Amino acid sequence: MLPMETLDSLGRHLRDLRISVTDRCNFRCTYCMPKELFGADHAFLPRASLLDFDEIARLARLFAELGVSKLRLTGGEPLVRKDIEKLVARLAPIPGIADISLTTNGSLLTPAKARALADAGLKRITVSLDALDDATFQRMNGVGFPVARVLEAIDNAAAAGLAPVKVNMVVKRGDNASDIEAMAGHFRHTGHILRFIEYMDVGNTNGWRLDEVVAGREIVERIGARWPIEPADPHYRGEVAKRWRYVDGGGEIGIITSVTQPFCRNCTRARLSAEGALYTCLFATRGFDLRALVRSGTDDDALRAQLAAVWHGRSDRYSELRSLQTPLQAGHKIEMSYIGG
Ligand code: SF4
Repeated sequence: MLPMETLDSLGRHLRDLRISVTDRCNFRCTYCMPKELFGADHAFLPRASLLDFDEIARLARLFAELGVSKLRLTGGEPLVRKDIEKLVARLAPIPGIADISLTTNGSLLTPAKARALADAGLKRITVSLDALDDATFQRMNGVGFPVARVLEAIDNAAAAGLAPVKVNMVVKRGDNASDIEAMAGHFRHTGHILRFIEYMDVGNTNGWRLDEVVAGREIVERIGARWPIEPADPHYRGEVAKRWRYVDGGGEIGIITSVTQPFCRNCTRARLSAEGALYTCLFATRGFDLRALVRSGTDDDALRAQLAAVWHGRSDRYSELRSLQTPLQAGHKIEMSYIGG
């Protein structure tokens, strides 16, 4: 079946599916899963409520028939889900899927795991690292995990053929903003792509304040003052990160400006939670329960039609509205740790 073109109510294509495979994580990052609120007694999703690999692969196939060509595996921390490489091996052969990537904190990315993921068909990997300064990083990840182990994980990914690795740094004023230049300096000339992410009001637990956001513009100015950079063309329409390259050939960086320069206009991303709910925005307050349909014997045609109907009805543009200071939708936003980035 040839992939269809599926448009939402603002004319945006359905291209990307982000699949959260677990709401569990072994870190407690302050901007995502603060340990004060996600303590030892936090009730994670029960195992039986999680979509199994067959169910995920079936939904991914139906999304591909609707035009999805890129899959990203997220969490929580996706590598805490057992045998995740077996899921990658199920997704890689799906017709229409051109790209499969994964976002990880790197803590479980051993040489063997990196190799297994690459052999299974993973194309790209993104590793989160919020600071080079160990004290800062250990404070921000909430579990005292050392920088050196994440740098090792990046090397493991590269050795497994998953280079260039994208490295995500969420920049928060008063927290790790002082480390911007050190991070840039470390990754110059490595071939890896460091991406600076503006701190976002995801979920309801990180106590977000606008004055703690370091604007992409400021990050570009600070780096440009040390190493001249120039803008680079996007690889494709809707690319989340704005690309900048070092004039001296030192490689490139990315800037993700959801707060100061929102990109909802070209947002082609759907999100599937680990328990099978479909969300049409990172800042959504409610999702559509696909698991009930999957587990009640709904056939492919009916399920595909339901997916398309949800997307057709989509009008999300949360970040744009936030920047226009338009009153935002009421309700409890989904947690980043539940839906992944
Ligand atoms: S705020 Fe929602 S609609 Fe806008 S870019 Fe993010 S996920 Fe897409």
